[in-house]
Amino acid sequence: MKVCKFGGSSLADAAQVTKVRDIVLADPDRRLVVVSAPGKRNKADTKVTDLLIAAAEARLAGGDGVAETARVVDRYAGMVRDLKLGDAVLGDITADLNRCVASDRSHRGRYLDRVKAAGEDNSARLMAAVFRAAGADASYVSPKDAGLLLSDEFGNARVLPESYARLESLKRRRGIVVFPGFFGMTPGGDVATFPRGGSDITGSILAAAVRADVYENFTDVDHVYSTDPRVVPGATPIHELTYREMRELSYAGFGVFHDEAVVPAVEAGIPICIRNTNRPDAPGTWVKPERKFEPGRVVGIACGDGFATVFVSKYLMNREVGFGRRLLQIFEDEGLSYEHIPSGIDNLSVILREGVLAPKEAHVIERIRTELGATDIEVERGLALIMIVGEGMRYTVGLAARATRTLADAGVNIEMLNQGSSEISMMFGVKSVDAHKAVRALYREFFPTE
Ligand code: ASP
Repeated sequence: MKVCKFGGSSLADAAQVTKVRDIVLADPDRRLVVVSAPGKRNKADTKVTDLLIAAAEARLAGGDGVAETARVVDRYAGMVRDLKLGDAVLGDITADLNRCVASDRSHRGRYLDRVKAAGEDNSARLMAAVFRAAGADASYVSPKDAGLLLSDEFGNARVLPESYARLESLKRRRGIVVFPGFFGMTPGGDVATFPRGGSDITGSILAAAVRADVYENFTDVDHVYSTDPRVVPGATPIHELTYREMRELSYAGFGVFHDEAVVPAVEAGIPICIRNTNRPDAPGTWVKPERKFEPGRVVGIACGDGFATVFVSKYLMNREVGFGRRLLQIFEDEGLSYEHIPSGIDNLSVILREGVLAPKEAHVIERIRTELGATDIEVERGLALIMIVGEGMRYTVGLAARATRTLADAGVNIEMLNQGSSEISMMFGVKSVDAHKAVRALYREFFPTE
């Protein structure tokens, strides 16, 4: 059995939906289909999820959200018309969207998630209707009925372990099951969503639960590339990655696959294949537990932007038992998750995503000053993290020297360097303005013939 997930660009209009239908019907093992909400039809377009957020925000601001909801209905109406699915299908979708936007908004996070989830939910209803119109036996299954339980961290939910046993029964269903990505239910019965791009996570959870032979993740590129082709045109394709390589690269900016989506597949040992809805014959990129690799060979260079550093300094910090714990406790108390903590003798930096820190920044700084007696606290924004990744890096001397020399020759100052915690990667913090220059220089160094 194969679990297939189709991203937003694969559901963006009738022509794309038709490709999805043909891909699924071409292989009888493709029995569990996970869909995103309709994405962008062209560069200037807006994703349905963003249209839904705009509708929800309009209502939260005291408006009725009617005009914004109409834009969402329009997207589905165009598809239903072009696919000739009939008025009943559109009637159900329209009623559902209107009901969600008009629902109780007393709790912001809960309301936003309920509205956001409607994009995937209605994509799945539409896709099931498309399969049925083609004469296939297909049904829409809701996360509620299937038992996909999530934590009540709205907008940032995580799967609850008991979900797996419940979801297993999906493999005994008849015909093609169409399942909406991106959301599940809390034990209290509310809709909760994963972080943005989270339909990849749903697909991986289902693949693990039904012990699929493969998790096929269909997107709009032929492969995962060794670096962002927008930064390095002609970047070489990657044919195989290990789970660890994929997790590190997607964490650090490879947008093609959600970094949290690797985890369920790893735990169940399900191979992942990332492939293109627009070129289904292309072999794609395989992500597996192990792969053959050459010592010293880098597989990818990723770059993620939008990090901030809270630099904390206190003389004799190295002698103060518990300083690090108390510092991190402040971040924990404020509900802020940090990304990295490079340290020195008398100083420690906490690196977070800018958007995470911003709302609590002043308060956190004040607490560090008063509760820990720090002598110096500085916040620096505009940090990019560059990650050089490869299983082959484990066995090679001198890679760090090559990378630092390359950055120096390119005139890029290294703000932070982290090597050692992970054997298969090296991480550099550089100013965001230098990030592309740094990636290009590193690419030339580590992929010389390409
Ligand atoms: N539609 C959601 C988003 O735009 C989730 C996804 O596409 O995976 O983030």
